[in-house]
Amino acid sequence: MLAAPQLQAFNPPRRTLMGPGPSDVYPEVLAAQSKPTIGHLDPLFVGMMDELKSLIQYAFQTQNEMTLAVSAPGSAGMETCFVNLVEPGETVIVCRNGVFGERMRQNVERVGATAVVVDNEWGEPVSVDAVAKALASHPEAKFLAFVHAETSTGALSDAQSLCALAKQHDCLSIVDAVTSLGGVELRVDDWGIDAIYAGSQKCLSCVPGLSPVSFSPAAVEKLKARKTPVQSWFLDQTLVMGYWSGEGKRSYHHTAPVNALYALHESLRLLAEEGLEQAWQRHQQMHLLLRQGLEKLGLQFVVNEGDRLPQLNAVYIPDGVNDAAVRQQLLQKYNLEIGAGLGALAGKAWRIGLMGYGARRENVALCLRALEEQLA
Ligand SMILES: *Cc1c(COP(=O)(O)O)cnc(C)c1O
Repeated sequence: MLAAPQLQAFNPPRRTLMGPGPSDVYPEVLAAQSKPTIGHLDPLFVGMMDELKSLIQYAFQTQNEMTLAVSAPGSAGMETCFVNLVEPGETVIVCRNGVFGERMRQNVERVGATAVVVDNEWGEPVSVDAVAKALASHPEAKFLAFVHAETSTGALSDAQSLCALAKQHDCLSIVDAVTSLGGVELRVDDWGIDAIYAGSQKCLSCVPGLSPVSFSPAAVEKLKARKTPVQSWFLDQTLVMGYWSGEGKRSYHHTAPVNALYALHESLRLLAEEGLEQAWQRHQQMHLLLRQGLEKLGLQFVVNEGDRLPQLNAVYIPDGVNDAAVRQQLLQKYNLEIGAGLGALAGKAWRIGLMGYGARRENVALCLRALEEQLA
């Protein structure tokens, strides 16, 4: 027998989360998650799931029938799009201007497809011109994949123009909206996005571990016309849909993460109550307030004005400042988490998140005061 560990219950402190996610969770969402677990085929739960679907459709601004939450984090949402839609041997134009575009490329290769990479510098948005050229010189391409809000750099790309280009070239668009959903303008139907995935723990301020996704009718058609089965059993949407839209005859696929779905329902309900456009505006206002303070402290943004994400502010660490020591102090003295640089920006930048419930005046004030004191 292995000796039983004798431990106290885990008691996390109350932090203020201003990194790249997870973000501060709405108190109402934490409360929703602790409600009684009921069966995932219970008629009351099924009713909740129908509401949840309409809430996800609202957040994405889509009437897509195939709209649901994958029972796993944003990375699984990404994989869901690639494994379901892309078949071996097909060509995908992948835009890479940070960490997550590179992950898209890896997904394409693992599917056995060919990735044609369009590179942009870290901190730049995806170049619409470069994508136009790639589409023109690769008539065999079936997809255009890009990240709307690149969390590794804080750059926002022009999803509307990119999706219009994809359509002109008969390509389906696959869009990463993990950080954009709820934080900046995003209109799936108006912009003609074919496959999109998001995450629960960024601007939705829900607990981590769920990924809202949506497929357009054209994407569903592509899925149905596959010659090869989807190689992932768990992520195969043709199987999952039997559960999400069984029209009264929902069948078992996997046990839904019941309490986490209560949480997502509540966070999306709060978003709908506030109004999507109001939420976008609030993120922008808090960004401007933070920007003013950061500039007073002499901190420089990584991304040019006009291309910046309000919800993810990447600033260069001033010369001579110890990155890890400052972040450690913020955590210990102020219970405040900001993000370290990732990939090419590791050690060079901080990433300050203003996501969802975290996009508030108190958070901006706390972050500015803490940074001012620590940089002094
Ligand atoms: C966070 C993030 C992901 C991955 O989401 P996980 O929930 O961490 O798996 C993917 N893309 C972008 C742009 C992200 O910010």
